[in-house]
Amino acid sequence: MNQMQQPGQQLRLEDSVGFQCDNCGGLFFKQSMLVRKWSKLLIGTPQDHVDVIPVFRCEDCNEVLKEFFPRGMKDIEEILNLGEPESVESNKAKKIQFIQ
Ligand SMILES: [Zn+2]
Repeated sequence: MNQMQQPGQQLRLEDSVGFQCDNCGGLFFKQSMLVRKWSKLLIGTPQDHVDVIPVFRCEDCNEVLKEFFPRGMKDIEEILNLGEPESVESNKAKKIQFIQ
């Protein structure tokens, strides 16, 4: 009898935990795209590089789901007033302590 499970194998919904919007408690999220450009001068290519970064936003109030927001885009973080990533990290630390 082998009850060991590989990560990612047989994920059961009843073992999952839902996300709620920090702002309004909403349960549903939509995916939005941030469009980013890297200057050809910076990355040393013949043309600028453009890529999209997916983020999740609350369907009800449009608040960004901060836990999944990719950090490092300072311009966007300022516009969205996301604050320092340390605050997100400390939230995670609190959750881990709670589980223990
Ligand atoms: Zn919301």
